[in-house]
Amino acid sequence: MPENPGARQELLVQGIAASQGIAFGQVFLYLQNDVELPDYVVEPEKRKDEVARFEQALLQTRQQISKIQGQVEKNLGPDEARIFDAHLMVLEDQALIGETVRDFEATHHNIETCFNRISARYIKAFDEIDDEYLRERASDIRDVAQRMLRNLLGQAARNLSQLAEKRIIFARDITPSDSAGIDRSQALGMVTDSGSKTSHAVIVARSMKIPAVVGVRDLTQRVNDGDWVIVDGYDGVVIINPSESTLFRYGQIRRAKETLQARLMEANRQPAVTLDGVNVRLMANIEKVDEVALVKEYSAEGVGLFRTEYLYLNEEKMPTEEAQFEAYRAIAAGIAPNPVVIRTLDLGGDKPMAASAHLFGKEENPFMGFRAIRFCLEHTDIFKDQLRAILRASSHGRVQVMYPMISGSEELAKANAVLEECKTELRGRGEKFDEQLAVGAMIEIPSAAMTADILANHCSFFSVGTNDLIQYLLAIDRVNDRIAHLYEPSHPAVIRTLRALIDVSHARNIPVSVCGEMAGDPVFAPLLLGLGIDALSMTPPLIPAVRYLVRAMTMADAVALANEALTLTSPKEIYAKCDAFYRARIKVD
Ligand code: PEP
Ligand code: MG
Repeated sequence: MPENPGARQELLVQGIAASQGIAFGQVFLYLQNDVELPDYVVEPEKRKDEVARFEQALLQTRQQISKIQGQVEKNLGPDEARIFDAHLMVLEDQALIGETVRDFEATHHNIETCFNRISARYIKAFDEIDDEYLRERASDIRDVAQRMLRNLLGQAARNLSQLAEKRIIFARDITPSDSAGIDRSQALGMVTDSGSKTSHAVIVARSMKIPAVVGVRDLTQRVNDGDWVIVDGYDGVVIINPSESTLFRYGQIRRAKETLQARLMEANRQPAVTLDGVNVRLMANIEKVDEVALVKEYSAEGVGLFRTEYLYLNEEKMPTEEAQFEAYRAIAAGIAPNPVVIRTLDLGGDKPMAASAHLFGKEENPFMGFRAIRFCLEHTDIFKDQLRAILRASSHGRVQVMYPMISGSEELAKANAVLEECKTELRGRGEKFDEQLAVGAMIEIPSAAMTADILANHCSFFSVGTNDLIQYLLAIDRVNDRIAHLYEPSHPAVIRTLRALIDVSHARNIPVSVCGEMAGDPVFAPLLLGLGIDALSMTPPLIPAVRYLVRAMTMADAVALANEALTLTSPKEIYAKCDAFYRARIKVD
């Protein structure tokens, strides 16, 4: 507790509620990408010290990297640790070091400025070389240079996986790879200037049960490291320096919410059956192998979406077939006899893999760009490693494979052809796999929804990625906080598209589930079920609230709600109907 939290002026900021819960704690400002460099001329009498300062920073950086290398070797093995040899070599590069010192001797500008200038020149030169190996040297130098500059400036590198004490993370933006590295036990909450409800960092926060508020614009410029704050992930409010009375009020809110959560968890042991006896299938979305435990804790009927790209995001290189097989096998075996839908790589969009940036290049519109299946069909070596690993895992549980970002039947047929090649290779290697492995397509591009009847000839199930489907249907960038209010799941276009998709699919015996964030929102779940969706897949902590609602409603009422929604014209009106349906049955708040 702060000694006197109300001593400074209380500031309340409204953002977007992104992950439920209330957190109270101190700010940890995570402004990783900005090393602000001072530029000044060093006085003649201090010039000797300036070179010594540079040498000291080289030494310190070398020690830090060796330490990380040791940890990586212990945790992951010598091959992975060898990556850091390249970083250490940068620090021994006499050309880079010598040129920096010569630049200093010529200009007498502070050593950070000189080092930054010279290293930037090297980075640019390597970046422009048409050779993959040499281009990777650019990212080695970039990494090491950032670390050197931080050491020279006496700034500790901030790392979300090593929060020293329980803190609330404040950042301009958090990338999925940042979020994948967050230390769950120490992160109390998350607040970002940008982002929206369906940005991937937020999805990860939700699965970690970390309260989060996004889209608070310039708040990182207005808070200080160590400020006391309340994060209200229910209403999207952030309160800096809360007064005693605010703290008291939030204490009460938090207790009431905890009681509700306990009630929901209690009911979560019951089957998801509506009052008129319809079984509803609730499944889990996961990003990491260790989330198998969550799937069980929240009694999900299997995994409806495993986002495999999280195995890649923080890696220095693409994971091997063997490493992937181990991960998929562990999940398949852990979830059996329930099914696991393994989605093939969906890199790109807001999920860049830093180490493979050169394979993607710089794009103006990454969400419309070289993403997911488009990338995999061009890099079939990477795709095949993954498909073989998935196929092999299929003999250890009930595995299904699903392709992301399918836009038409040719793409789907091409992906299936690569899958067949992998099967032939595995047969040649004498490896076992499920010959009947079910193949599904994500429906998240309008063209796929419109041609579901054609896609149905090439796969046996569909899963609707509403996060993307809505962004493409409504032309609303899903991570842009400026237009987040226009991102409306209750838009008639969304509901009509789902209805048409479900009708076409069911006529062909193709089940349709939803695995976008809409599925885990108890306000929208009845609408989706009423439209005829066969299963809902969501971040595990969202299951209790949806299950509670399913058990408090009849499917007949949900169907009536969907039919009524189809007659309405405004998203707000449709939302109000769904909200009223929810409130009448949940009897809380
Ligand atoms: C979606 O688009 O709804 C989806 C589930 O995929 P992702 O959020 O990973 O893009
Ligand atoms: Mg998607």
